Amino acid sequence: MIYDLAVVGAGPAGSSTAIAAAKAGLSVLLLEKKNVGRDKYCGGGITVLARKYLKDIGASEVEEVFERFSEGHVLILPGEKILIDAIKIHGYYLVRRSRFDGKLMKIAQSFGAQFKPETEVNRINVEGDKVVISDRKGEKYEAKYVVVATGADDRIPVSMGFPKREKEGLGHCWGTEAPYDVDTQIKKWRSEYGFTPLFFIFGILTYGYFWIFPKAGHMNVGMGTTLEESAKYGELHLKGYAKGLEAAKKLGILDNTKPFKVNMSWIIPGRPREKTYSIKKRALLVGDAAGFVYPLTGEGISGSICSGMWQPRP
Ligand SMILES: Cc1cc2nc3c(=O)[nH]c(=O)nc-3n(C[C@H](O)[C@H](O)[C@H](O)COP(=O)(O)OP(=O)(O)OC[C@H]3O[C@@H](n4cnc5c(N)ncnc54)[C@H](O)[C@@H]3O)c2cc1C
Repeated sequence: MIYDLAVVGAGPAGSSTAIAAAKAGLSVLLLEKKNVGRDKYCGGGITVLARKYLKDIGASEVEEVFERFSEGHVLILPGEKILIDAIKIHGYYLVRRSRFDGKLMKIAQSFGAQFKPETEVNRINVEGDKVVISDRKGEKYEAKYVVVATGADDRIPVSMGFPKREKEGLGHCWGTEAPYDVDTQIKKWRSEYGFTPLFFIFGILTYGYFWIFPKAGHMNVGMGTTLEESAKYGELHLKGYAKGLEAAKKLGILDNTKPFKVNMSWIIPGRPREKTYSIKKRALLVGDAAGFVYPLTGEGISGSICSGMWQPRP
């Protein structure tokens, strides 16, 4: 069968593309190298804008996996004097990515997209007026067009002849999402600040920040900076993380820092790739594959959904 559209990668960008395309009446094949329930290292903050895009594509059902609402930020600059700025604005819905992405994959299927998990694509070629996609097991799939939604991993876009990412636009994050008594901690935060915030602690590493995001029964604690800075750090990654935890404990943000050990790290592509589509290659890049992440905040889920929902047209 020749599908109208093949989508490679079932993160928020790929699943949103598949949902929008299937809704528009296209036959869609969604290929994912992992399985439903795969995790992705991420703060999991869904902005109001991302929520609107989800509604626009008809995927509001995903709100079932929204775990918490945070009404604003607390920005902290430690020093001789500690500057704390609590801003009740720009709320975030917090999700665990394994559940959020899994739900979006299921919604894509419910709209008629054919979903193939555990299918790692390793080659995409144009043959005449179709695209031939090969996976690691030697299977081949055919479609009129392909949307590449493989995230921050550069391999597939570069193998297709898209330009490499510019190093300057890349961020690097590390941390964990660990089981934690979040409800008790939030009670304390609410009595201190009057709302449930996301915490950002600055001044520990150059250009970056340390964050604390509450989920349901899990706390996401991480830090990030530019990849260029991070490459110089070596042991400073862990020392910086330890400093962040120490500051969080001292300020009464985390009563218990023991659960938090760095066990995940990932790249943030904070600048669009020089070219994000090719008529000749019959291909479009969306989400992190295209580099659609806000460089300052590292927020990329809304850009992923937005790029996914606008790409497919019958
Ligand atoms: C530490 C960290 C914190 C973040 N916090 C936030 C936040 O709070 N809010 C926010 O909005 N954004 C956040 N982001 C950014 C956000 O995670 C990304 O922008 C978003 O996940 C991009 O979605 P995507 O679908 O493009 O890529 P991904 O979510 O990376 O999905 C890509 C998918 O493609 C699959 N894949 C890859 N290669 C292949 C292949 N060859 N064949 C088949 N499948 C393949 C992968 O398995 C994966 O499922 C954060 C990022 C990081 C690193």
